[in-house]
Amino acid sequence: MEFDGRTVVVTGAAKGIGEAASDVFYERGANVVRLDIDPDDERSAPGAMDADRTMYVACDVSRSDQVAAAFDRVADRYGGVDILVNNAGIQVYGSVTDTSESDWDRVMDVNVKGAFLCARAALARMTRGVIVNVSSVQGLMSESNVAAYATSKTALLGLTRSIAVDYAPDVRCVAVCPGTVDTPLLRWAVSEWEDPESMMDDVRAMHLLGRIAQPEEIARFIAFLASDEASFVTGHEYRIDGGLGVKVGGTLRR
Ligand code: NAD
Repeated sequence: MEFDGRTVVVTGAAKGIGEAASDVFYERGANVVRLDIDPDDERSAPGAMDADRTMYVACDVSRSDQVAAAFDRVADRYGGVDILVNNAGIQVYGSVTDTSESDWDRVMDVNVKGAFLCARAALARMTRGVIVNVSSVQGLMSESNVAAYATSKTALLGLTRSIAVDYAPDVRCVAVCPGTVDTPLLRWAVSEWEDPESMMDDVRAMHLLGRIAQPEEIARFIAFLASDEASFVTGHEYRIDGGLGVKVGGTLRR
């Protein structure tokens, strides 16, 4: 199979995009290590999966001691890392004046420092391989009141370029910028609004395709970028956003 014998580490793997990405890599033959902050998620193998080929490791990606210990476990079990998906991310809402210093620090710690720490640990154990950073369309454009999140997602694009430049040609590094995806993070974000259902309708309508993505659609795109099918792809960010932001307002008619 496509990823036979390769070891893939996915962060934020217990839910949403990370869970879907872990499952796609597993289904296509990889050994998959699922890192997530919640120790309740630490199980020998999810569901009916082969415990020799997948495991959960409890790890807060913003903590260097926990990241080092997690990647030591990966190396002990599988010998090295071939693919890293830096997916763990959190979102807080707020403009610059509405964002507390602690919220700012937490978002940067998880979304940016977490990706740096995991990339550093993976690169030390990677001869040839691929790193996929999960950014967002908000790394390229912004809704209101997402100062910390949008900044963190833009920073990931810089990290992507730096890794691609410094570790070419043996390591490819790319970023994906998803539009809106149906995950627990999105459900939480929408629940913060007064009228969540009409908010969801508005969110669907923002995308040219008239709907939001399922996590599996992002997962398959991540797997493609990490695969040999994308062997000439590195350094850039790739949108997967159902056409979000393509259409300008207004109509010109005679
Ligand atoms: P989610 O909240 O549904 O799942 C995220 C997972 O990350 C959870 O299992 C959580 O426990 C884990 N996590 C959080 N903090 C962690 C930490 N410090 N260490 C380890 N694990 C941690 O989120 P999602 O919607 O699946 O988002 C995944 C990624 O995709 C995020 O980086 C997010 O910013 C990005 N993204 C999401 C959307 C969307 O619409 N859902 C759009 C664009 C980008």
